[in-house]
Amino acid sequence: MNVLVVVPHPDDESIGCGGTICLHAARGDRVAAVFLTSGELGLRKLPQEKAWRVREREAEKAAEILGIASLTFLRFPDRHVGDQIEKAAEALSPVLRQEKPESIYLAHERDRHRDHRACAPIVHAALEGSGIPAPKVLAYEVLTLLSEYDHLEDITTVMPRKLKAVRAHRSQVRQFRYDRAARAINEYRGTIAEAGRYAEVFRLDDCQLDTVAQARRADPDWYRIYRIVQEIIKVVPANDAFILVDDGSQEASSLVAPRRCIPFLEKDGSYWGRPADDRTAIQELNRLRSCGAGFMFFAWSALWWLDHYSGLRNHLESRYHCVRRDDNVVAFDLRAGPATKL
Ligand SMILES: [Zn+2]
Repeated sequence: MNVLVVVPHPDDESIGCGGTICLHAARGDRVAAVFLTSGELGLRKLPQEKAWRVREREAEKAAEILGIASLTFLRFPDRHVGDQIEKAAEALSPVLRQEKPESIYLAHERDRHRDHRACAPIVHAALEGSGIPAPKVLAYEVLTLLSEYDHLEDITTVMPRKLKAVRAHRSQVRQFRYDRAARAINEYRGTIAEAGRYAEVFRLDDCQLDTVAQARRADPDWYRIYRIVQEIIKVVPANDAFILVDDGSQEASSLVAPRRCIPFLEKDGSYWGRPADDRTAIQELNRLRSCGAGFMFFAWSALWWLDHYSGLRNHLESRYHCVRRDDNVVAFDLRAGPATKL
């Protein structure tokens, strides 16, 4: 997989998504970074050319620590890249065509710094004329926190590397302890989302998500629901029906259309409460299967069912292929065939 990180100033890549870059690199993904400015205003006492060289060298050191394979410096004027959206988009286009990224990371649009806010319009303008397939666009937070997010990465295992990369921007950390700020932000994210000691969060640029209330997207649990949505889309063919066990919330339902989402228990298309016992649960499962339900998903909020309804669990595990099993979702393929154990 190819990943592109669009960076307003050297150090934003390490602070905003350094942990996630490490995880991509460890999975064998190619990560490239484009620096819109070279941050000359972060070294006001130096002449521009010299400031560029210092900051670019620091960015190269950080990139080596994080596992970034290629760096491009566009050298637009610090604080004023937003005045030249079209020119910056033109400069970004050849990188897009060369890298053909499946995911693009950029600074989010509500950041207090104008260069950060300029990233999204530049990337969108560059994508428009690029002719490459639309990538997933994920916005990272630097020092202005995201008010809502859709995706979270647990970066606990790579946090020491991330901090080393932040500190590689020595000229900046000398003036302000960005490393301390990043550690505090990532610990805060991990703690409130109960997702490891350190986490980075991202807002997805996806118009389908505009239908989700902002307050819901601000909930630290929301990313778990959205992760299930993505699993359902991956696993269930577009015109199929599936059972979603999530204590009736059915939030994923509208985001996975045209797939038909059936609550469990179900009566006349609506949620009908929890089953009294295993027998009822198995009977209902068989009935829904005969009505066309091809899959059964247990959302993270209902994973306790698999301990509580052990008869249902044994029934599913002995007959059907378990297609997903992690701490967020368990899913079975009910369509046919003998059971295959994972
Ligand atoms: Zn910045």
